[in-house]
Amino acid sequence: MSIRVILDKCTGCKLCIRSCPFGAIVIKDKKAVIDLLKCNLCGACVDACRLNAIELKKPLTAEKEIPKKGAKDVWVFCEQKKGVIQSVSWELLGKARELTDKLGVKLCGVLLGHNIKEKACEVFARGADRVYVVDSPKLANYLDEPYTKVLVKLVEKYKPEIFLCGATTMGRSLISRVAVKVYAGLTADCTGLDIDEKERLLLQTRPAFGGNIMATIITPSHRPQMATVRHKVMKEAPIQDGRTGELIEEKIDEHLLTSRSKLLEIIEEIESTVNLSEADIIVSGGRGIGGPENFKIIEELALAIGGAVGASRAAVDAGWMPYSHQVGQTGKTVCPKLYIACGISGQIQHLIGMQSSKIIVAINKNPDAPIFKVATYAIVDDLFKVVPLLTKRFKEVLGK
Ligand code: FAD
Repeated sequence: MSIRVILDKCTGCKLCIRSCPFGAIVIKDKKAVIDLLKCNLCGACVDACRLNAIELKKPLTAEKEIPKKGAKDVWVFCEQKKGVIQSVSWELLGKARELTDKLGVKLCGVLLGHNIKEKACEVFARGADRVYVVDSPKLANYLDEPYTKVLVKLVEKYKPEIFLCGATTMGRSLISRVAVKVYAGLTADCTGLDIDEKERLLLQTRPAFGGNIMATIITPSHRPQMATVRHKVMKEAPIQDGRTGELIEEKIDEHLLTSRSKLLEIIEEIESTVNLSEADIIVSGGRGIGGPENFKIIEELALAIGGAVGASRAAVDAGWMPYSHQVGQTGKTVCPKLYIACGISGQIQHLIGMQSSKIIVAINKNPDAPIFKVATYAIVDDLFKVVPLLTKRFKEVLGK
């Protein structure tokens, strides 16, 4: 896209300056001048100008865009690894079912892989009305190029209204490529999704400006409306045994399955502790722990109750715990049955990663700490007193 000021029409009225959210416009010699380094081509100035003196040109490729009219259905990319559908897909199907019901359209799963057809029944059981399957040995393991080309082909052919994907390593790499190819927008890392039923728009909510606000983003002009959602943010769709639907086995031209990169080997990550994202119990420590040596009391409590150890970013940045333990906006999103926060103040960036935990116990000596706003049980006291007492009592009760 490109933008320019039509100098003959511009009177230097400054309406465009007030409309620009990026401060990209100044008046020089009574004419508007746009700083292209600051401008993000949002078009607000074009709408504000009463003299049509600003022109925003779309590239010719825009002709290839999926038209709004005729776009229908909600799609969920069902990520699989070694033929096992990843649980983030069940979470997306759960939320997508709500969106689909509000829109009165079909919920469709998209499954790419090798010998994957029989897995479609799992997708139906989680609420899908239709499943698109593309089966090929070349899709057995994830590779950017063939996966992108296949999804683009499907999107262009069937024109979904909404397309959701997990914000996983694979999902992030894949769906952004697809969005670019189909000229659609993409809202990454959504924490909430809903439908504006009047306008039939997907309301995509995610933290913005360093997590200080929750922004709700819409995609009014382009289809599909695309979003990624982090693992563990939404509830899994329940299993409905025996539920079935329409299976569409899509044949794809061989040339779309070619790739310039080659998968040599998959090296599994060896988890030395309980995987934080999958843990049912997490005991987390923050800056209030005071130093790396004191994390021992957190680890002892976690061990006594079979939990994993988490940490706030302050504790990770201080080098007290490795990054793999960080919970929050720039760490892991977790949803355990029990989350015990010790010496963590509860800033929004931490809360984003753990507030959907079923039971939250917060231990903090400051009664005004924001963590208490989300806590199920609040213990206002010194953690060095409380945590060892809890460990002792749990050991007694659990016979350890
Ligand atoms: P503090 O805010 O310093 O809180 C320490 C708490 O310990 C205090 O409430 C204090 O009362 C209590 N305390 C002290 N001593 C004791 C004691 N003896 N007993 C009981 N309580 C005690 N943070 C994250 O956690 N995860 C993220 O992913 C993350 N991402 C971020 C991304 C961005 C873009 C930004 C800008 C920030 C991010 N942060 C993140 C940082 C976040 O804003 C906070 O700075 C951080 O969470 C604070 O960590 P804390 O609660 O451990 O420390």
